[in-house]
Amino acid sequence: ASLLAVGSLAACGDDSGSDSGTGNNGGGKTPKIGVILPDSKSSVRWETADRKYLEEAFKAAGVQYDIQNAQGDKNTFQTLADQMITNGATVLMIVNLDSGTGKAVLDKAKSQGVATIDYDRLTLGGSAEYYVSFDNVAVGKLQGEGLVKCLTAANAQKPVVAELNGSQTDNNATLFKEGYDSVLKPKYDAGEYVQGPDQWVPDWDNAQAGTIFEQMVTQTGGKINGVLAANDGLGNAVISVLKKNKLNGKVPVTGQDATVQGLQNILAGDQCMTVYKAIKQEADAAAELAIGLAKGEKKTTSQTVKDPEGGRDVPSVLLTPVAITKENVKDVVADGFVTKEELCTGAY
Ligand code: BGC
Repeated sequence: ASLLAVGSLAACGDDSGSDSGTGNNGGGKTPKIGVILPDSKSSVRWETADRKYLEEAFKAAGVQYDIQNAQGDKNTFQTLADQMITNGATVLMIVNLDSGTGKAVLDKAKSQGVATIDYDRLTLGGSAEYYVSFDNVAVGKLQGEGLVKCLTAANAQKPVVAELNGSQTDNNATLFKEGYDSVLKPKYDAGEYVQGPDQWVPDWDNAQAGTIFEQMVTQTGGKINGVLAANDGLGNAVISVLKKNKLNGKVPVTGQDATVQGLQNILAGDQCMTVYKAIKQEADAAAELAIGLAKGEKKTTSQTVKDPEGGRDVPSVLLTPVAITKENVKDVVADGFVTKEELCTGAY
């Protein structure tokens, strides 16, 4: 595992709303960085981790910043971007709600001389200067391999596997699926596993995920033996349904984000695995590029990603995800992403 041991054991999830840091701005163009997070419901990560780590990075660099959350609303998203530009943002960093509306925001910013960064999600056909994320196909592969390990441990014979994908409008969800299907499809094709229901969950909505999974259970007459859930929120929705049917712990369920709830589900034996993405590293990398752009510097990155829609090579930073099972939950604590207290009390 490539976990860094440098994180501090900071308390997490302590604030919401918007903040403005004030920096020590000398002459020249005042760096002012606007960040728009997508929502608070598709994953707890945005408000509890991304906001915190971005804030820390901007404060440490002494730059002005404004972090807002579009709360899943595409109009709000564009309004926030317009406001940030009016208020003098020199760089805009976004986590798009879908590529179409994301592209409109990026293009408009660009036309007004504001540099842009795609944070975590690539905006297809977009115009961002940089894309900062994880290797998301690798995330999906870890999920697929994790599920296979749990099914093997359970000695499941010809297991029926259900897939609950993320939002179809999130390019990451497409990449995750590409990753796990590269592991699962050969097993379906070989008749080793049976391909069960396979659905996208609109907006990664956890409540809808529960309903969708209930329908999957009905549709298959309860014959589902493993669930590929694309993140911890979707996984928890599945686990709640399994609990009602007294099947939790018997049907392996995957996840992603190493949320407190996901890790607790793993420790309880109800969830097979999650994927830890060191969001501090992601936030630090994005903040560094944003601060460079705000100062008029174009830093080079070691990677590029081809935008399948524009054909453009987007300068990128892609970090490495880590699979987490019962055995190495402690590594997430050691990295400072969650505290032992949170895991024990469920303070989320
Ligand atoms: C992120 C995941 C997150 C999901 C829902 C994806 O784009 O990469 O970490 O769980 O969105 O917010």
